Amino acid sequence: MAHPRDISSDTAEKQGAEGLPVGELRVVATPIGNLADLTPRAREALATADVIAAEDTRHTSQLLRHLGIDRPMLSLHDHNEMARIPALLAQLKAGACIALVSDAGTPLVSDPGSALVAAAVAAGVRVTPLPGASACLAALCVAGLPADRFAFEGFLPAKTAARRAALEALAREPRTLVFYEAPHRIVEALADAAQAFGADRLAVVARELTKLHETLYRGTLGELAARAPAEPNLARGEMVLLVHGYRTAGGDDLPAEALRWLRLLLPHLAPSRAAAVVAEGLGLRRQAVYALALSLASGTGDDESVE
Ligand code: SAM
Repeated sequence: MAHPRDISSDTAEKQGAEGLPVGELRVVATPIGNLADLTPRAREALATADVIAAEDTRHTSQLLRHLGIDRPMLSLHDHNEMARIPALLAQLKAGACIALVSDAGTPLVSDPGSALVAAAVAAGVRVTPLPGASACLAALCVAGLPADRFAFEGFLPAKTAARRAALEALAREPRTLVFYEAPHRIVEALADAAQAFGADRLAVVARELTKLHETLYRGTLGELAARAPAEPNLARGEMVLLVHGYRTAGGDDLPAEALRWLRLLLPHLAPSRAAAVVAEGLGLRRQAVYALALSLASGTGDDESVE
């Protein structure tokens, strides 16, 4: 049930235990394209903040102009975050409300802010989430890939060898994989992913979400890698790459722990018993675990480490 709370007039919560003023760090999500995605709470949090700490003040001032909000701003980006923290903490401890925003989406998610939030938490300052858009979740909820468990990997390394190594390390990850990728690297990323995960693995490139030219490219990694070099739209805009998780020999999306436990138990228990123990212990479908146990016991299952 929604619990409307007037952020600005919450004076009771601005008093600490000893009656001292207590500030608040507001972590505010902003739209990833469509300005209508800014929540009313986010708007109020920005409008009533003493200071807005923005990844790029010029970028955020456009959003604030659109919203008719005029608040003091300072920059907080990857290169000055550590240096900014002492002064921001002092302001928070003196009772200031500071709103943290990035250029788009949710701060901290492949964006600055983690160190400031950690410092605020360590200092006992209240940290309030103002949830909203994030490209990761926006892409995941339209990809058509399993979304109950997923692994967000942020940006892949830019250098070829490191990118390939990172992808190889994820080849047996059973959860759906979500990557942020730059348009000038998507062709290479798709080719490397097809190599590391196999050309048959299902994948989606979610481009320009919530914007005019929102496009979803779906197919196998082999198809997408073949199509990408001739697709001019993939060379521009913002995009998320999602890849179906590794399927075990049982054909079900079982977590890595299931495989690990089965390997431990199978030398000592019959496949049906081992499957029953693992299914119950991990809350999985017994039939799927049994299929994997059988394939492992008969030597046809995957026998390599998942991590
Ligand atoms: N913190 C942001 C968030 O919560 O979504 C992400 C910031 S990260 C620096 C920017 C990356 O997010 C882009 O390079 C792209 O991979 C992805 N992205 C941002 N907006 C997007 C959009 N509208 N459509 C698709 N991907 C987007």
